[in-house]
Amino acid sequence: MVAQYRGPARREGGWVDLTAEILRGTADLSGANCVGSEALFDPKAHNEEFTAADYRHQAAVELCRTCPAVVACAQWAATQPDVHAVIGGRRPALPGNPGRPRKSAA
Ligand code: SF4
Repeated sequence: MVAQYRGPARREGGWVDLTAEILRGTADLSGANCVGSEALFDPKAHNEEFTAADYRHQAAVELCRTCPAVVACAQWAATQPDVHAVIGGRRPALPGNPGRPRKSAA
């Protein structure tokens, strides 16, 4: 009988283990509407016009509204300290966004 080689005795961590470690604790976003449309969700690019980023983000939010993973996604996003992209139907505060005008004191 010939002994079979079974590989190294100790399992080395590869990219699968690394990926699993990174994703541990993230929400299950199966069936997410953003798959394939990631560019809509990205943060405003440094050289991107505010109105262009705002338009992209509005389109992303529309995808979130019908996403089957929106609840899990929004819950996970709420645990993230610094979000600059559209996640869970929420738009990031855009740099340079003038925001809503303040209510006047009068
Ligand atoms: S809620 Fe929006 S960001 Fe979250 S998985 Fe769905 S489409 Fe993507």
